[in-house]
Amino acid sequence: MSDCIFCKIINGDIPCAKVFENEHVIAFLDISQVTKGHTLVVPKIHKENIYELTPELAQRVFEVVPTIANAIREQFSPEGINILNNNGEIAGQTVFHYHMHIIPRYSKGDGFG
Ligand code: 5GP
Ligand code: ZN
Repeated sequence: MSDCIFCKIINGDIPCAKVFENEHVIAFLDISQVTKGHTLVVPKIHKENIYELTPELAQRVFEVVPTIANAIREQFSPEGINILNNNGEIAGQTVFHYHMHIIPRYSKGDGFG
């Protein structure tokens, strides 16, 4: 999708801080991290939201999440991690290319010190 910001990242047209990549999925730091290490997990194929994901694509997205969560845990040592996904404007979705948020949680604030 030519006007999709995440498709542009996937195509390498705009930069990102890449955390993980395989054939089907890319993960990169959120440009506006709510806490240190806030990461987005994104299928490379453009699908707007959860309603458009096939079970196969949902599996491809979710199967990499434990690896990424463990890498974040090792790198940043959060006390916990939220995993969430917004679908629809009313639910807080602002980028309409499906993505999962991995948000590390720290006992002392946002982790940036
Ligand atoms: P949503 O609100 O749709 O669930 O999440 C979209 C997320 O994408 C937001 O947290 C926002 O900060 C992030 N975002 C928007 N544009 C960019 C960008 O160009 N690069 C990166 N890395 N993240 C972005
Ligand atoms: Zn897209």
